[in-house]
Amino acid sequence: MYRIRFHGRGGEGMKTASRILGSSFFFEGFQVQDAPKYGAERRGAPVSAYVRADHKQIYERGEIHKPDLIVIADETLLHVTRNTVLEGIHENTVIFIISAMSNSELEEIINSGKSIIKIDPAALPENYHRFLSPITASASACFTGKIQSSNLIRGVKDELKTVKDDLIIENVAIAEKIFNEMKSYSGIVTETGEITVLRDPQLITLPLHNSSIATPVIRTVSTSVKNQTGSWRTARPVVLYEKCSGCMMCNVYCPDSAITKNKDGFPVIDYNHCKGCLICCEVCPSGAIRKENEKIRRSETV
Ligand code: SF4
Ligand code: SF4
Repeated sequence: MYRIRFHGRGGEGMKTASRILGSSFFFEGFQVQDAPKYGAERRGAPVSAYVRADHKQIYERGEIHKPDLIVIADETLLHVTRNTVLEGIHENTVIFIISAMSNSELEEIINSGKSIIKIDPAALPENYHRFLSPITASASACFTGKIQSSNLIRGVKDELKTVKDDLIIENVAIAEKIFNEMKSYSGIVTETGEITVLRDPQLITLPLHNSSIATPVIRTVSTSVKNQTGSWRTARPVVLYEKCSGCMMCNVYCPDSAITKNKDGFPVIDYNHCKGCLICCEVCPSGAIRKENEKIRRSETV
């Protein structure tokens, strides 16, 4: 059975990627499961998705704990959820990542001694963030060596059948391009036989947080301070003080109260809690807040 696990952030298309790959396997005659897992269902929050494919009936259920292929669409996840992203690496696991880091930097962070296949964003179209689903799905399909490009394309079209034709054409084009470029890795991901099918029921798998922040109800004041939503960001707002008038519209609209005023009357962003929604960039009347893509940050808490 193939066990493939996708990691990205909400809005990056990992659920769609798993569905495309699942459909492509299905069109090849495989039995398939694909399913996403959301935590906090908000843009930017870590998301994973799972694909199992086998020629036999699949009895495994739930998350994939020992993947044959790990797909990482967003390198910043290595900083905030590395243990989750790299969970269950076994002797044949292949890791595929879209990253601008050098191979040595990646090896230092991943530190698994496993095959790492990387695509540098510089080698992708400038707007590649819009196409992470076909990019990751087609690379994964190619790595198995079991999916023909015709069935991959059928999978892409099937998943996107409700969107406009020109968008389907763009997605198909990039899926074909990546599939062809990855051909030297065809077959690098291999099937693993039976793993543990039955596990002890683990009714609580999350770390046990204090109930004041772990429960979905507000029981006391200021619990949002403890929940560092800054780890959700894929892009951060940066104030350009030379343009800023100090009107504090950004403060008014920030949904997380992550903008306060400094002693000189200008805004300061709390990056531990700014989740990266970028509403402040939109509402600033002076164009004084710039969006910067997040990079892996080793020296900061978040
Ligand atoms: S909305 Fe813009 S101009 Fe106003 S305080 Fe915020 S950053 Fe400065
Ligand atoms: S991006 Fe701006 S509006 Fe959104 S949470 Fe961060 S500071 Fe607040």
